Amino acid sequence: MSDIALLPAVTEFLARVPANFIEGAYQPSTSTQRIAVRNPATGQVISHILDASDEDIEHAVASARKAFKGAWADTSPYARGVILNRFADLLEVHAEELAQLETLCSGKSINLSRGLEMAQSVVFLRYFAGWASKINGQTMSPSIPSMGGEQYLAYTLREPVGVVAGIVPWNFSVMIGIWKIASALVTGCTIVIKPSEFTPLALLRVAELAFEAGVPAGAFNVVNGTGQVGQQLIAHAAISKVAFTGSVPTGIAVGKAAMAADLTRATLELGGKNPAALLADVDMDQAVTGMVQMAYVHQGQVCAAPERLYVHRSRVSEFLEKLGQALSTLKIGSPLDESTQFGPLANQAHLEKILDFFARANQNNTVICGAKAIDRPGYFVEPTLILANGPDDPLLREEAFGPVLCVLPYDTEEELVTLMNDSPYGLTASVWTNNLSKALRLIPQIEAGTVWVNMHTFLDPALPFGGVKASGVGREFGDAFIEAYTELKSVMIRY
Ligand code: NAD
Repeated sequence: MSDIALLPAVTEFLARVPANFIEGAYQPSTSTQRIAVRNPATGQVISHILDASDEDIEHAVASARKAFKGAWADTSPYARGVILNRFADLLEVHAEELAQLETLCSGKSINLSRGLEMAQSVVFLRYFAGWASKINGQTMSPSIPSMGGEQYLAYTLREPVGVVAGIVPWNFSVMIGIWKIASALVTGCTIVIKPSEFTPLALLRVAELAFEAGVPAGAFNVVNGTGQVGQQLIAHAAISKVAFTGSVPTGIAVGKAAMAADLTRATLELGGKNPAALLADVDMDQAVTGMVQMAYVHQGQVCAAPERLYVHRSRVSEFLEKLGQALSTLKIGSPLDESTQFGPLANQAHLEKILDFFARANQNNTVICGAKAIDRPGYFVEPTLILANGPDDPLLREEAFGPVLCVLPYDTEEELVTLMNDSPYGLTASVWTNNLSKALRLIPQIEAGTVWVNMHTFLDPALPFGGVKASGVGREFGDAFIEAYTELKSVMIRY
């Protein structure tokens, strides 16, 4: 097989003059700082973005504030739902163009960009659109005694917090962007979003489509740039909420900056070192297929993916042999080739981080397979499986965010729970067993925001998602997101 042909719309988009999308249009900028965008499969520069200037950030926040008080506030909840559904329709119509842009910037296989990134962006957007006319306060029964025959009526209003600063990572830039954009717009907030400087293109096109769908000018703005632009956004006095997804160290800096900016509220969706447990009775073929799909998809650059694997000692050699065998058959190649199953890492800095991980594994651990760079242009490494040197092995503690599973045998379920919880993180976890009562007994003992049984990494818009411990603050999806994007106003009336 060979690479698919790029759509003319994609090549035109790559060649456009870089600009930020503010107030419904690409705006001229005072910034002279261009940032190169590279294709991770080749290392070649494919486009440029503009590092937003102070004036660009000011313009974006001011236009979001204007839309928050004006056009978007004047749009009824029902109409907001209609517009968001139309926006979802346009994402669907332009899915191939967006999938190609995303693959070119992120190295994600084109199948994944189409089948997960774009397909799920549409699913999530429609789910959020459905909330538009269903976000309400409550009527309360006041407890104040009536002294002279007066009565009281009490109720709460759910009011949008205001302008949201969305800051998103490079691994699923459209889908994670949609989580923030849709949460903000459906609750009546407006948003200025900053994509990762590594994958900045698709969200610019998404903003154009939102505007075409009827999202008013200023309600959804995109400013590009590095973490510095993110810091400036957070510090802006007119930002009422920060919605951040990224690494734990950046999340801590973002949380501190938000608190320092007059206690701006922040939700932080951060990284993890997610455990998966294979019990003695596990269906090994199901578990091996699950690990190939879940730990190595998008080269392991998935926040929810398993990285620590605890396997009952009686099944370890069988597991290592079967998984090692399955990984050796993965087709590694260009992400634009539809037959490719495993592509490059997303950028040079990340490649260097993973190679450092590999160097330590090669020096100190038993490497079952991989732990090598692949000698070709771009940022390719081999899918990797290693044995950990006991529970304190640093490779079992640091998030790799790459195609690396670290395996440790365990003997008792008591030991298993201790091992699974022995981490500063708590984003996701999974238990693989045919014994449902064992699974149900383990689930409450596991410190994680999401626990799966006989599966891992499946996100559903109806289910709240977020981390415990150092994996984050707050929840997205379900009805949990409403709390984060609205304020409750209490009203009491005497009559
Ligand atoms: P990152 O933390 O380096 O960057 C994330 C975003 O923050 C980028 O847009 C970046 O430009 C910006 N940023 C960097 N420094 C900043 C600062 N000081 N202030 C404000 N913004 C700043 O993360 P990444 O490398 O892009 O993404 C990988 C990480 O994201 C992994 O740790 C992964 O686990 C995590 N992640 C978490 C989830 C989740 O839902 N919990 C989802 C995807 C990725």
